[in-house]
Amino acid sequence: MTTVTFDSLNPATGAVVGSHPKQGPEAVREAVGRADEAAAWWAGLGHAERRRRLLDYKAVVTRDLRELARLVHEETGKPVGDATLEIVLAITHIDWAARNAHKVLGRRRVATGMIGLNLAATLEYLPLGVVGVIGPWNYPVFTPMGSIAYALAAGNAVVFKPSEFTPGVGVRLAELFAQAVPEHPVFQAVTGLGETGAALAADPRVRKIAFTGSTATAKRVMAACAENLTPIVAECGGKDAFIVDADADLGAAADACLWGAMSNAGQTCVGVERVYVVDAVYDGFMRELSERVTKVRAGEDYGPITMPAQVDVIKRHIDAAAKAGRVVTGGPDAVRPPFVDPVIVEDVPEDSAAVREETFGPTITVRRTRDAQEALELANASSYGLGGTVFSRNARRATELARLMRTGMTAINSVISFAGVPSLPFGGVGDSGFGRIHGADGLREFSRPKAISRQR
Ligand code: NAP
Repeated sequence: MTTVTFDSLNPATGAVVGSHPKQGPEAVREAVGRADEAAAWWAGLGHAERRRRLLDYKAVVTRDLRELARLVHEETGKPVGDATLEIVLAITHIDWAARNAHKVLGRRRVATGMIGLNLAATLEYLPLGVVGVIGPWNYPVFTPMGSIAYALAAGNAVVFKPSEFTPGVGVRLAELFAQAVPEHPVFQAVTGLGETGAALAADPRVRKIAFTGSTATAKRVMAACAENLTPIVAECGGKDAFIVDADADLGAAADACLWGAMSNAGQTCVGVERVYVVDAVYDGFMRELSERVTKVRAGEDYGPITMPAQVDVIKRHIDAAAKAGRVVTGGPDAVRPPFVDPVIVEDVPEDSAAVREETFGPTITVRRTRDAQEALELANASSYGLGGTVFSRNARRATELARLMRTGMTAINSVISFAGVPSLPFGGVGDSGFGRIHGADGLREFSRPKAISRQR
């Protein structure tokens, strides 16, 4: 039987990077069957041995860092330095998950608080079995590893469906794991498009789906999972707000804002897309921002738009923003597929698609607000709620604003910093999804609590 394949392409050059099998429902069923057997073996190893194996995996990934970064660069178009950074962050997650799983999940005594009953109790977190991970292309190592490392550390086997834009990286991550753990296929990758992810979500032997992708696809994944009551953790899109308060360091805020908006060509779920600046510092902040943005170059500081269809979305948003607002930098001419130059537009109405929908490009809208309270209200008016930023020198005020921001994570005086910290839970609210990856919450996400009580 001939194998049907599809190519992954370098989005900057159009060159073929690799050819991969289009694995349909039958191939997915077989992979899940192998994973189901491997899961029992892996769970039986116990925490100490799994920790040792995961640290071996960390060593293998670290050894091949350059080769992996090259592959990420070729499949996504992002600069090699950015690709290297995302792999380093992924390695940090593997390390944290390996070293902390036993502390978070291991058996412990629990006080029962039962009056008049001599009852003892223990609680531990046991593996689920097979976890299906469906990942995006924008950070093809860092993002899926935020689920894969934690699912493996919790004692599960993983079947990973990488994005059809970055299949080579996904396959390589699983091959490297097999070098550290050769006995059983504890971590496999299945490649394909159009039906592969759906087959994984629909398999009743998959005990949890970790999905990272768009909100629209998350709904379809949930529908497929509903059939077997398969639980899902959904890491979806965002429309992160960036608030600049009256006492902010404006230079530092402008630096952070540009990096958060433009790095990875804006193709970041927690990228800065909406900027709200209080009236008192608006002109000063815009001066700092305008000065700096002239030094940012598409094709040098960041790469191309990886997914060709996204260029149309970005263009639609830029056109709408430019028509309704005032262009500071860029504008409709900024779109030179596959590259998009930095775009900043002021005074775009809040009901514009450019403010409401995820753009996923190097573009921001900036709005003057009366005060921080109004900035917060506008920030919270989004259907998304993934990350956000507050810039202020007043720690108390900044913390208060951060707490009131309707997001899973907020950074004060920086951007996106929460994503790299392995001990912090990562995830959003509203259209940004539900459930948490990373940290202790991430480990528990891929486990089932087991309570045992004993009458003494
Ligand atoms: P996407 O297009 O929404 O998802 C594509 C993936 O979903 C493919 O692997 C596809 O596999 C699978 N899929 C499609 N339909 C399915 C179904 N019915 N059942 C199961 N799987 C199905 O996402 P993307 O374009 O790769 O990623 C971009 C989005 O990810 C952005 O919105 C971004 O904000 C978000 N993101 C979020 C985070 C976060 O942590 N919150 C991180 C990074 C990116 P098949 O082709 O085989 O069906």
